[in-house]
Amino acid sequence: MCGEEGEDAQLPAISTVGECAYINFKEVNGKEGWECQWCGLSFKPRHATRAMRHVLKLKGGDIAICKAVISARYRDRYQALYDRQFTRVDSKRKSDEIIRDSVTEQQEAAVQSLLDTRKQPGVSGLRKLPHSFSSSHVASASGGAARSSSSTSLQGQRSVSTMHRSYIRRSNDATVEMAIADFFHCENIPDAVVESSRFKRLISEE
Ligand SMILES: [Zn+2]
Repeated sequence: MCGEEGEDAQLPAISTVGECAYINFKEVNGKEGWECQWCGLSFKPRHATRAMRHVLKLKGGDIAICKAVISARYRDRYQALYDRQFTRVDSKRKSDEIIRDSVTEQQEAAVQSLLDTRKQPGVSGLRKLPHSFSSSHVASASGGAARSSSSTSLQGQRSVSTMHRSYIRRSNDATVEMAIADFFHCENIPDAVVESSRFKRLISEE
């Protein structure tokens, strides 16, 4: 409850906007909604953040702002609640970002070691690929005269770029594979899920 009217006394803090006597959670046309007792308008659905934006007269919050005069003590209390809640959301968002970055880092490291263990013919020299790829380009572009004798270098260039492409494909596959495996393992998802037709539909390429 909002407490008794007093001229100077600060209102006790509230932990949800519904605790304020001026925000009345009630049924509106048979659905859960709420009523602002400052302006007398009712809204649905019930939405604490929108209720706060309404009484704080913050535009652009999917809710009309309150047209009534709201006493400063109440406004301060709403503002304090709003600040507290949004500081929490911000710090939650930050910690989510940190977790996401570290998951990405771990998965990338795992992908690299997965690729290292899958050294297939032609894959072992991959780290040097960008260099050899560009040098073969330079070689074939270095002069028209070289063109006549370039059938072997053209051949080489083609196989390098094929290798490069297949490395990228393999690396993408491994990245996806690792992300899926990590997700399954860390979220405790039973292996049987892969038999689900919903799952198959999810990962099918169409
Ligand atoms: Zn209102």
